[in-house]
Amino acid sequence: MTAALTSGGAMRTVEPSHHLSDDMLLDYAAGSLDEATSLIVATHLTYCPSCRKRAAELDALGGTLLRDVAPVSLSKGSLESVLARLDQPAEPAPVHAALPANDNPLVPAVLRRYLGGDLDAVTWKNLGMGVQTSEIAMNVEGKRAFLLRVPAGKAVPHHTHDGNEFVLILRGAYNDEIGRFARGDLAISDGSIKHKPVAEPGEDCICLVVVDAPIRLTGPIGAILNLFVKV
Ligand SMILES: [Zn+2]
Repeated sequence: MTAALTSGGAMRTVEPSHHLSDDMLLDYAAGSLDEATSLIVATHLTYCPSCRKRAAELDALGGTLLRDVAPVSLSKGSLESVLARLDQPAEPAPVHAALPANDNPLVPAVLRRYLGGDLDAVTWKNLGMGVQTSEIAMNVEGKRAFLLRVPAGKAVPHHTHDGNEFVLILRGAYNDEIGRFARGDLAISDGSIKHKPVAEPGEDCICLVVVDAPIRLTGPIGAILNLFVKV
């Protein structure tokens, strides 16, 4: 989501154009995503009214399906179990239901909690070529979450992935072989995609990245930089 000036000078909101799949929304609502993926989904939802609306529709659909199948699927024991759960305190609402539509336009609250503050609080590590990263501590086996900062007008080295790469843009924008990605957009890549994101001029591009396997840099400097990007 980026703010842009209209002809009258008023600010308007540009919604993300790259979104979550229904599968991801359903897994998120069911609480079956790992912490790192949940963070990137929650961050996108903060930026994206379309996906919040879709999540609500899926929640409603899930409730309808549950109501329809309940009479034939519940045994006496499971019915008692459900009734017992009704007596328990309500579970916290899903994160997307609790997030205000107009959260901090730069770093959503759900992410600020991991960073310990805004982007100003981030300690960056230089990767070379002006590219910087900052690890986000979380206890998720086999996944890594980090911020990536690419200087305005510069490129991330050409790379591919053994696993999945989720990138959510927090500031600035980049273009690659897939398209243009700006604030709030979610880019999902797998091993079939080789790409070379190039940050647009004017503003550094800062992204939240989650990977579940090492990124393999494929350019001439890849052999050196690969040392720094292991999961
Ligand atoms: Zn969306």
